[in-house]
Amino acid sequence: MARFEGKQTVPVSHFPALMANESMMGYVVRVGLLNQLSLSGTSSLVLGLNSCLEPPWIVPSNLERLSQSASGTLGTANDLLLNHTVFPVVAPFLSPQLRSRLALQMTTDLQPGRHRSKVRSNTWEGNVPAQLRWCTKCVLDDEAEHGFSYWRREHQLGICTHCPRHGCALVTGCGYCNFPRNVRTSPSLPTAQCRCGRELRALSPCSFVQGDGSALAKIHEFILSMVDCSLPLDEQDHIGATLQRRAIQLDLMTGKGVRRAVFMRLVEDCGGMPIINSTWETERAAMTWVSTVLRSGRTVASLATNVLLITTLFSSAQTFREALEQSRSMRKLGEELRKQTTERTNVSLGQTGTTRYIEKRHEKDKLISEAIRRRHASVLASNQQPVRFTRTFFLADIAGCRSIVRKLASYPLSAAAIRELSESREQFLRRLAIWLMRNDPEQRRGSALLAAVQKVVYLTMADLKPIYVELFEGGPMHLPSPS
Ligand SMILES: [Zn+2]
Ligand SMILES: [Zn+2]
Repeated sequence: MARFEGKQTVPVSHFPALMANESMMGYVVRVGLLNQLSLSGTSSLVLGLNSCLEPPWIVPSNLERLSQSASGTLGTANDLLLNHTVFPVVAPFLSPQLRSRLALQMTTDLQPGRHRSKVRSNTWEGNVPAQLRWCTKCVLDDEAEHGFSYWRREHQLGICTHCPRHGCALVTGCGYCNFPRNVRTSPSLPTAQCRCGRELRALSPCSFVQGDGSALAKIHEFILSMVDCSLPLDEQDHIGATLQRRAIQLDLMTGKGVRRAVFMRLVEDCGGMPIINSTWETERAAMTWVSTVLRSGRTVASLATNVLLITTLFSSAQTFREALEQSRSMRKLGEELRKQTTERTNVSLGQTGTTRYIEKRHEKDKLISEAIRRRHASVLASNQQPVRFTRTFFLADIAGCRSIVRKLASYPLSAAAIRELSESREQFLRRLAIWLMRNDPEQRRGSALLAAVQKVVYLTMADLKPIYVELFEGGPMHLPSPS
C-alpha cells in the first residue's frame, strides 16, 4: 500500500474523461487499456486493491482511492457512487443502515476485517449470474459518436434484460471468447459483433418499443428514470407506503392480504407473465414477495419485486413519483395490515377459541397419560430384560409425547403418570435382580445365584437376600420406597 502513496509514484498517467453512465468496471477497463496495463495492474495501482477485479464488479470498492489517483479530475468518490454505479437505483429500497453500509463499502478502502459483512449484489438481485452485459445498438451509436464504445451501469442490473434506450435484448458475449468471462485475459470494450465472428448471446428473444405500455417497456423505462434522476433517499419508507396506498385504491387488498387473481390480471394485461416466470419461476413465489410488501407497507431489498409492483400499480414512472411526493409531504407510512387481521381474528374467536384450545389440550393429555400407563404395563408383562422406567423412556417412544416435554405443567395427567411410574435407581435394581433370579439359565439356588446376580446389579448381599427369600420362599414382595 505505502509504495503507491502519493501521485508521483503512480505510473498511471492517463485518466480519460468518464462517459455518461459508464460503469466503474468499464472505466477501470478503459484506464487499463489506455495505460497498457492488465486489469490486476490497474486495480492494484489505481484502486490499491490486492486482488484482481471480478467483472461485472457491481459493488465496487475504494472509489476514494480512484478519485485521488486521478487527482480529482473524476470528481469525488460520492460523485462516482451516484453517477457511475447502480447505487442510486438500489439504495431507495434499502434500509437506511444497509444503504449507508453499501455506500461506505463502495467508496472507502475495503479492509480485510470488514470483509465478512460485505454487502453483495445478491442483496437486491438474488442469484442473477454475475456477468457484464451490453447493448449492440448502444455500441454502434457510441462508436459513431465517440469513436469507441463503453460499459454502461444500468445494463449490469439483473432486472435490466433489455436496453432501456433501444428496447433490444442485451447480450453477454459469444460464450467462447474470454473477456468478460475470464478476468485473466486482457480486458476489452463491448462490441457489436464478437471478434471471433460468432453470434452474441441475447438475454431474451423479444424486444420492446419505448412507450408501448408493455410490462417490459414500463420496467425499463422506470429503470432509466431512476438512472437519470434517482429517487429520494428518505429515512422513512415512503415508497412502501405509496405502494400500499395505491393497492388499497385499486381494491387489491382484502382484510387478510392481496387479491392474487386481481393482481395477476394486472400483470397479465401488460404481458408481464414471462417476466414473473423468468424472475421468480412461479406465480406463487412472486406473490409471496408482492404480498410481503403490500401487507406490511414496507419495501424489500429485492429490486425486481419493487419494480414489478411500481410498474404494475402505476401507469408510468411519472405517476409513481407524483404519488411518492404526496406520501412524503403527508409523511405517510405503511401500516401492518397483517397484524391488524390477526388481532381481529383473535377478538372474533374470543372465548370460544381459547376454550376449544383448552379442550383439545385436555383430550391430548388424557390420551398420552393412558398411552404411558399401557406402555408401562406391557413392558412389565413382557419377559424382556428390564429397562429403567424414566421420564425419558416414556417420552421417547409414545406418539405425541415429545411435543409436550417442555410444557408438562399444562398436561397434569401425563405428568402424574410419568411421576408415578418412573423408577428410582434402587427400585430398578431390585426389579432387575428379580428378573435375573427368575431367569437364571443355570438354575442356581442360594448363595451361588445371589453371587451371580450381584455381579450385574451391584446391590449388597444384605439387600439381595430378602428379595431371594420373598421370591423363592414366599415372603411378602414389596419394592423399597424411592430414596
Ligand atoms: Zn442500447
Ligand atoms: Zn467470440
